[in-house]
Amino acid sequence: MSDSDTRDRSDTLRTPIVAVLGHVDHGKTSLLDKVRGSAVSEGEAGAITQHIGATAVPLDTISGIAGSLVDPDDFDLPGLLFIDTPGHHSFSTLRSRGGALADIAVLVVDVNDGFQPQTEEAIDILKRTGTPFIVAANKIDTTPGWNPQEGEPIQVTYEAQSDRARSRLDENLYEIIGQLSDAGFSADLYWRVQDFQANVGVVPVSAMTGEGVPDLLTVLMGLSQRYMKDQMTIDVEGPGAGTVLEVKEEKGFGTTLDVVIYDGTLREGDEIVVGGLHEPIVTEVRALLQPKPLAEIRTEKRFDRVDSVGAAAGVKIAAPDLEDAMAGAPVRVVRGRERDVVVADVESELAEIEVDTEEEGVVVKADTLGSLEAMANALLEAEVPILRAEVGDVAPRDVAVASTAAEADNQVILGFNVDVLKNAQRELEESDVRLFSDDVIYQLVEDYEEFVAERQRAQQ
Ligand code: GDP
Repeated sequence: MSDSDTRDRSDTLRTPIVAVLGHVDHGKTSLLDKVRGSAVSEGEAGAITQHIGATAVPLDTISGIAGSLVDPDDFDLPGLLFIDTPGHHSFSTLRSRGGALADIAVLVVDVNDGFQPQTEEAIDILKRTGTPFIVAANKIDTTPGWNPQEGEPIQVTYEAQSDRARSRLDENLYEIIGQLSDAGFSADLYWRVQDFQANVGVVPVSAMTGEGVPDLLTVLMGLSQRYMKDQMTIDVEGPGAGTVLEVKEEKGFGTTLDVVIYDGTLREGDEIVVGGLHEPIVTEVRALLQPKPLAEIRTEKRFDRVDSVGAAAGVKIAAPDLEDAMAGAPVRVVRGRERDVVVADVESELAEIEVDTEEEGVVVKADTLGSLEAMANALLEAEVPILRAEVGDVAPRDVAVASTAAEADNQVILGFNVDVLKNAQRELEESDVRLFSDDVIYQLVEDYEEFVAERQRAQQ
């Protein structure tokens, strides 16, 4: 393949977006850190690029880490873009038209702990969104008798262990493979998997020693190249499309949006349409910002301005009128299209996320559209009716609405990852409305069910 061939093709192939999910403390953050660390210690300038909310690891760096496992000539995808915030909360926020924004997921499972409640939740979300995933069976270094071989491919490390250590690890790995099978997936150790579409590959790793990290990157790269190339084909010069990760106040810029762009290009000065709390927001990009390299950060200037960003990339948008923008909402560039058509497009995408409400039920507040949807799904499963569901902090109006419920069981606000506004706090104290808040969905639903059960017991 000639150089110009490669360039022509990679011009229209974007970086696959990778999200990391798993139960708390199973090592999501450590694994992401290790991936970044391994990349940086590859030594070359440009080993990784830090975006807003994401880290880009180019193919050459991956090939450097993976050694003989990845021959760059076999690939024409430009690398991998890792979403920096792990967890299924951010994963469900990150949606795009009809599904997940992440193209692939890494489900981190502590090899000693196996499946835990949030592992199950993550699996449910992956199933629902049809997102392909691999399992990182983490913390293999804690296996009794394990003799770490730092930074080695796990295939090498695994073979070099004593029979005793290997069979201790195997026992745990096959437990996880069994649990995946119970969840409806055929799974095996990744080097035994022939067809990654039919089987979930399990990669034993240690986020501590880095064993298995080369394999993990190899499998992610291979999976994307083999099965996702079509999805990665984009018109880079086309109008940008993205999803809001976070809505943030930024000194000197007012309200800004952290956005992941998954199609086309976003430019300074572009007219954009953003999903808002009440209606689509039409505004103009005043500045596009990227984090400054760590070494250059001075006290006040935390960002570099860029003229444009092409997919896939994370970027901060500074623009007027963003106060009502919602995390999880779509962002679309108008350039070269009718504004009304783009507004209608954003509206229809938001409508997909709308929650079915009843005449009588609880009030649900969540910090992002994706988490609101996930909450609504969990409540639907638990047969809890919803009166009103909205993105945002708990406000006095929510207390007023909750207090109109006829049944005390429903005079409840369930808040996921949200704050309570001061004046709402006062009204809560003066009313019979109960507030449950948490940042774990199953916990929130469980607390509510417990409350209902207790009330029923008290009435008998
Ligand atoms: P998260 O909640 O899933 O993001 O988990 P963290 O990355 O914060 O890890 C939780 C704890 O497990 C921390 O104390 C980590 O140092 C530890 N940890 C993570 N990965 C490994 C690993 O591969 N080996 C060992 N021994 N400890 C690990």
